Formats: sequence, structure tokens, C-alpha cells
Amino acid sequence: ERETALAEADRPAVTVDGTTIQVFANVGSVQDALDAYGADGSGLVRTEVLFGDRRTAPRVEEQVEVFRAIASAFGGKPITIRTWDIGGDKPLPFLPQEREANPFLGERGIRVFRKRPELLRDQLRAISQVAAEAPVQVMFPMVTTSEEVAWALSELADIGASGWDVKVGIMVEVPAAALRISSLAEGLDFVSIGTNDLTQYTTAADRGNSAVASLADGLDPAVLQLIDRVVRGVPLGVEVAVCGDLASDPDAAVLLAGLGIRELSAVGPQVPIIKSRLRQTSLAEAAKTAAQALTLPTAAAVRDLFGQR
Ligand code: PEP
Ligand code: MG
Repeated sequence: ERETALAEADRPAVTVDGTTIQVFANVGSVQDALDAYGADGSGLVRTEVLFGDRRTAPRVEEQVEVFRAIASAFGGKPITIRTWDIGGDKPLPFLPQEREANPFLGERGIRVFRKRPELLRDQLRAISQVAAEAPVQVMFPMVTTSEEVAWALSELADIGASGWDVKVGIMVEVPAAALRISSLAEGLDFVSIGTNDLTQYTTAADRGNSAVASLADGLDPAVLQLIDRVVRGVPLGVEVAVCGDLASDPDAAVLLAGLGIRELSAVGPQVPIIKSRLRQTSLAEAAKTAAQALTLPTAAAVRDLFGQR
């Protein structure tokens, strides 16, 4: 089955009832982009991973070179570059942070740059340069408030003097962001749900702590309800993607499609599997399964919906 999936990986994933679900790959290196297993693009380029081994901040030109290599590996398919997502479990040597008692609840993602925007600005300059040559989208992580969205847009406006024509989006990974998505996503082109952090913050269970791993389950109906709310709540025309690990699980991918998600971004090796599974999926059936999942008490009960397969 894996062989058939691999052979057909380059083809789009069209459900039995004729809806195309785009399946992208998450990348953290140029090699990931070269090995993208027929992905339709990248829904998440993790820049803090790309440059995670640097002792000093990469210059604009260096970033341009790496982003260009990734865009070129995808040969004209869209890529979504996420701005520095540091803090929490991801320190960067060239951006020292104060010690915090609760780093996952502290200065993470976009929060880090409010007081010192220079590194973010350089990154936006690099992204904008590559966006002039290739279909590049920019995405801001850990957004919580509309005020942060306005700030991010103003930073873009400030550096984009000459024709900034990139699509702009945010990660939805904070429950507050999901709950007020209709106002938060106004003026954006897309949102992408980060189920890893959304699950961690919804269940108050550390995503990296194996002692609470069973609580931090992305199939928890409470998490699915937030995803449903985002799909239903975004302003007209704002696309909704999922780039957290949930998108790499074939059963979950079916559920997400059933909830109305049309863009998934998975780990590279899972892309052919997810595409193959979606090709065998009736979206009408998936929507019924998803509606049922929203009413269940536990992630285990949601998994049981797929138990017969
Ligand atoms: C997420 O939180 O789901 C996500 C995709 O971002 P990261 O795993 O890099 O925090
Ligand atoms: Mg995250």
C-alpha cells in the first residue's frame, strides 16, 4: 500500500466525491524540501529550525539564499514561511532570552519581537525578496490578540516599501485566538492551526512531557471543537489550514477534512500516505464522522470511530 501511495504521491489528493485537499509538507531544512514526497507545497517552513545551529543571526542575504533554495525545491508550488518561533522549548543562540518560570506561557513567537523587532524585520525583508520571485506566504506564530495582528501588519508595511505582494497569515495555536477567530483573522489571507500547541494549551498538558502525553491528545474533542470553531468563524475568503502533527495522522486527516479543512501540512514521509487515504475518503461520510466526533467525551472514543478500519 505504501508503494502505491508513493507512486501516486505527485498527484493531487481528490476525495471520492471530488474535492481536492491540498497536502503540504512541513520543512525544517533545505533537504526536507528536496525530500518532500510529492507534497503540494510547504504549509510550514520552521525558520528557527532552519537556522537553529547559528551562533550569530543570519544576515538578510543568507536567509534569502535558504528561502530561495526551499522555494526552488518546491518548483513553483506555494511555501509558507513562518517567522522566528522561539521561546518555550526553542531557544536560539543569537537571541538570548531572560529565564522565565513558565517559558511556554512567556515570551514565545511573535511576543519576543515587540520590544526588539530588528531580527523580525530582517526576516521579513528576506521573505519579501523571495516573495517577489516565488509564491511565498508569511505566517506569524503564537498570535493571541488583534493588536498583535495589527502590529505584525504594520511591521510588514514598514519594510514592504516596494510592492509587498505576499499572502499573510497567522498560526492559531492559542485557545483565545481560536475563540475570537472572526475578529482576529480580519484582514488576513489565511490562518493555520498549530495543533501541537493548541492541544497543549487547551488541555494544560505539556506537549513534551510523556507523563501527560495521554492528556495532550490532538483528537481530544475539546481541541476538535476549537478547530471546528475556527473553520466556521473565519471571515469569508480567509483560508484555514492545519500544520500541526495532527495532520500527519491519516485518521485525523480524514476528520480534519470532514470539519472543512482543505489544506493539511504533514511531516514529509506521511504526505503520500495522507494523500492516498484522502483519495479513498468520501467527504460527505467524513463530515458525518467529524460531526459525531465533536460530541464524544474523549480522544479514545474519537479513535474508536475509526476502529473498524
Ligand atoms: C504547532 O504548534 O502545532 C506547530 C505546528 O508549531 P510548532 O510545532 O513548531 O510549535
Ligand atoms: Mg507551535
